Amino acid sequence: MSEKLDIIVVGAGVFGLASAYHLQKKNPSKKILLIDRLADAGQANTAMSAAAVRNTFSSRTNQILTDTTIDFYIDVQENLKFDLDLQLVGYLWLLTEKQLADPLNKKWMEKMDANKIKYELYEGENLKRKLPELSMKVSDNEEARIMNLEDIKAGLFGVKCGILDPSKLVSFYKNEFARISKVKPMFNTEVEELILEPPNKLGVPGEPFIWQDPSVVGVKTADGEIRGDTVVMAAGTWVNKLTDPTGIDGRVKVKKRQLFRVSTEGSQSLKSILNVKSFNKFNSLPFTVLPRGVYLRPVRQEESFWVGCADKLNRPFKYVQTEDDWKSEQNYFEQSMYPVLSAYLPAFKDVRPASGWAGAYAYSYDAVPYVYKEAGMIFATGDSGSGIMKADAVGRMVDALYRGEKTTTLHGGVKIDTGTLSIGNRKVEKEEVLI
Ligand SMILES: Cc1cc2nc3c(=O)[nH]c(=O)nc-3n(C[C@H](O)[C@H](O)[C@H](O)COP(=O)(O)OP(=O)(O)OC[C@H]3O[C@@H](n4cnc5c(N)ncnc54)[C@H](O)[C@@H]3O)c2cc1C
Repeated sequence: MSEKLDIIVVGAGVFGLASAYHLQKKNPSKKILLIDRLADAGQANTAMSAAAVRNTFSSRTNQILTDTTIDFYIDVQENLKFDLDLQLVGYLWLLTEKQLADPLNKKWMEKMDANKIKYELYEGENLKRKLPELSMKVSDNEEARIMNLEDIKAGLFGVKCGILDPSKLVSFYKNEFARISKVKPMFNTEVEELILEPPNKLGVPGEPFIWQDPSVVGVKTADGEIRGDTVVMAAGTWVNKLTDPTGIDGRVKVKKRQLFRVSTEGSQSLKSILNVKSFNKFNSLPFTVLPRGVYLRPVRQEESFWVGCADKLNRPFKYVQTEDDWKSEQNYFEQSMYPVLSAYLPAFKDVRPASGWAGAYAYSYDAVPYVYKEAGMIFATGDSGSGIMKADAVGRMVDALYRGEKTTTLHGGVKIDTGTLSIGNRKVEKEEVLI
């Protein structure tokens, strides 16, 4: 591409898309190129996601990012009439006595109370009445005892939480960006390298020298160089691959994550769980998290559940997502998730997944995203497994940083310091409630 661009957004996942959209909306005269190595937008981890949304975080920053992003999605669906298949079915955390008494969880609830994040606590019989298929007492089950599974005491129900269709969210941002953009996005185009150059190039071999203050002025692809004043780095779990050769720190660690589809076909009890009537107006199971982190995402249009678990120990951190991270592991379902699932929900006994898939999370060190400027680039990374539910806020912060605004206005007029997600001036608490 010969023409010089104002902004190049590398990566058309949900972070890149939301960034491109908000940048273009607020800077209508700027030429913004969205570039991705895949055939279309949102085909990498965004497409692999469970696409659940919740505002029930412990970190105040994550609460704000998600609360305003969910409000934006509600607005898109209800007022702009763009169907995202957003259903606020709720999030149900099933907690043991120990978990209920855990000071971290107590603090989590206090922080939600303090910030008016709505949740309800269903204890004992009240929970059992709502979800009769749940086996709350597992301590008399020998297998459960071997696995150190404990009885469930309560369910914490997050109200402004739910699920959406990630492909519809991608279409929304992609279409809206295309409508206002001056530059056609480039797909099937891999960024092979970042171009690092000094502002006043001397044309001497060995440049850039340490005294030249080089910055990233564009990208190299197989078809040549593309130059832009600002590069927005939204390459997710591949960021280190692009930044490492330039000596810039990509700052994320990558971990594989998997989902398995379990059909309710032929099982009345599974259908009753999926279509339970006591939690929300959709007559749907909420997004439900069992002790040990095994979770169920209802997919009622497929008469199925997606079952996942973000395992911590024994799942290696990687530096960059690899081919292997796209393959689900049947034995992970059978040996790690299934025993927990069938102990608490016996209706899943002998059930096997019809299919599975995998992707990866790009973790920041505190599980709050990164939005910062470095060497001519604006980074929008560190999704930490909750990028769908934070994307709109992240996109707005990228735009505010680009325009040099000290304060970002999020959806609904909520203000946040634009430096909040930066590195040098980072003002966030470590997130304690991760799935
Ligand atoms: C199993 C699973 C379940 C999840 N569940 C949830 C959930 O319930 N809720 C939630 O909010 N989040 C969830 N997530 C996380 C969510 O999917 C991510 O946070 C989100 O997709 C991150 O978006 P992104 O744009 O940063 O990354 P991606 O969607 O991965 O986009 C990065 C893009 O960069 C492109 N790219 C990379 N390198 C280059 C290059 N060199 N040249 C050109 N293009 C490049 C890639 O092709 C890709 O399209 C889940 C993720 C997984 C894997």
